Amino acid sequence: MTPEEFRAAAHTLVDWVADHRSRIPSLPVASQVKPGEIRDALPTHAPEQPEPLADVLADLDRIIVPGITQTQHPGFYGWFPSNAGLASLLGDIASGGVAGLGITWQSAPALTEVEQVVTEWLRELCGLAPEWKGAIQDTASTGTLVAMIAGRERASELSEHGAGLQAVAQPLVAYTSPQAHSSVPKAVLLAGFGSENLRFVDVDPVAYAMLPDALAAAMAADVAAGKRPAIVVAALGTTGTTAFDPVAEIVEIASEYGAWVHVDAAMAGSAMLLPECRHLFAGIDGADSIGWNPHKWMGTILDCSLLYVRDVDHLVRCMSTTPSYLRSAVDDDVVQYKDWGIPLGRRFRALKLWFQLRLDGVEAIRARLRRDLANAQWLADAVAAEPDWRVLAPVDLQTVCLRHEPPGLHGEALDRHTLAWADAINAGGKAFVSPSLLDGRWMVRVSIGAEATERADVQALWELLRATAASCR
Ligand code: PLP
Repeated sequence: MTPEEFRAAAHTLVDWVADHRSRIPSLPVASQVKPGEIRDALPTHAPEQPEPLADVLADLDRIIVPGITQTQHPGFYGWFPSNAGLASLLGDIASGGVAGLGITWQSAPALTEVEQVVTEWLRELCGLAPEWKGAIQDTASTGTLVAMIAGRERASELSEHGAGLQAVAQPLVAYTSPQAHSSVPKAVLLAGFGSENLRFVDVDPVAYAMLPDALAAAMAADVAAGKRPAIVVAALGTTGTTAFDPVAEIVEIASEYGAWVHVDAAMAGSAMLLPECRHLFAGIDGADSIGWNPHKWMGTILDCSLLYVRDVDHLVRCMSTTPSYLRSAVDDDVVQYKDWGIPLGRRFRALKLWFQLRLDGVEAIRARLRRDLANAQWLADAVAAEPDWRVLAPVDLQTVCLRHEPPGLHGEALDRHTLAWADAINAGGKAFVSPSLLDGRWMVRVSIGAEATERADVQALWELLRATAASCR
């Protein structure tokens, strides 16, 4: 494709995107396709000859769009917000346009230095101390794995440069909450700790936050058994209920053993942009690493996850490789992001943040987050005031965990009722919610924060929840 052919095709595609985004409210929120339906609609073999763009766009409408759950829909309350703001989409297009190869500073100096600047902007906007240094990862899962390896290597005195974990005299132990995201235990396994060396520390039965005394007891028991506490992952804004582990106390306990503290604030990190929410993150500057996702609530299009560390030199010692073909004369003077994480080749993700922050402005982002917090409080109050409905966890952010509990329904019968009305809502196409287990029983998470969701949408949702639950009795 020549640049002139691209110009024509891209204008058509941009029009398609703008039209598509405008009509999202008229689409069903949850994709209604059956497994295999999309695959069956596509040819078995790749085309030998070029096809017209019009045919490809027609298939986008006919085949692809029905196979997308519309996370940009005002009725999307599932999982967590996954906003794909159009200003950041422009940055994504620009990133492809400049085609920067991010393997070293030399391969695209702007790619490295814009990333340094935007991670510093966001550090400041989040009220984090100046010693934090940030890099963009693809996802929080990768950020947690990187932190896990850094924690492992600090506890094992850089064992990877010798015989690795196989020669470590004391088994290393990792700690987290049973409410932590599944990417945390996954990182523990991938970093070679072994599932026997993963402790799920008890949480408070009301707030679902880690109990510091239980952490202290677990660490002391491990030390008595000849093991070494290596890392604690504190969850700030858990996936189930957006609970906040007490990071200040966790840092204090971990420091007795020299254990690394990683903060997983994948969802909640956006709330650090709001000074009135910073109390939820008290003590965070004492941690060793923090991960959070602009690609969730803040609205930077996937993928864009931030990982901040305080001791970058240690991280580089863990992650650095220096093949001769990547050497340059300025290596001592520049940041090499290849040494701050796992991949060599990096996309120019910083442009997504750069475009979003410049074109939207921080004040508008803050206003949207505040709108969502107020909407969640409105819904929580409405649910709490309604007979036979219950709010099941503190609403610290924008997610409300709720259940319809009609008299006489308990145990598995209550579970069947909860799943029936949640599934009916999702099948109806007007809204999408996530049923999830809490204390072994099904409940429904209503996670407010799609960019398009206004108070009237939340009010309509509440009507829909009541009508659907009543009709499922
Ligand atoms: N941590 C928390 C608290 C999450 O809620 C999620 C996803 O929802 C993740 C980590 C994983 O995020 P990612 O998809 O960026 O790996």
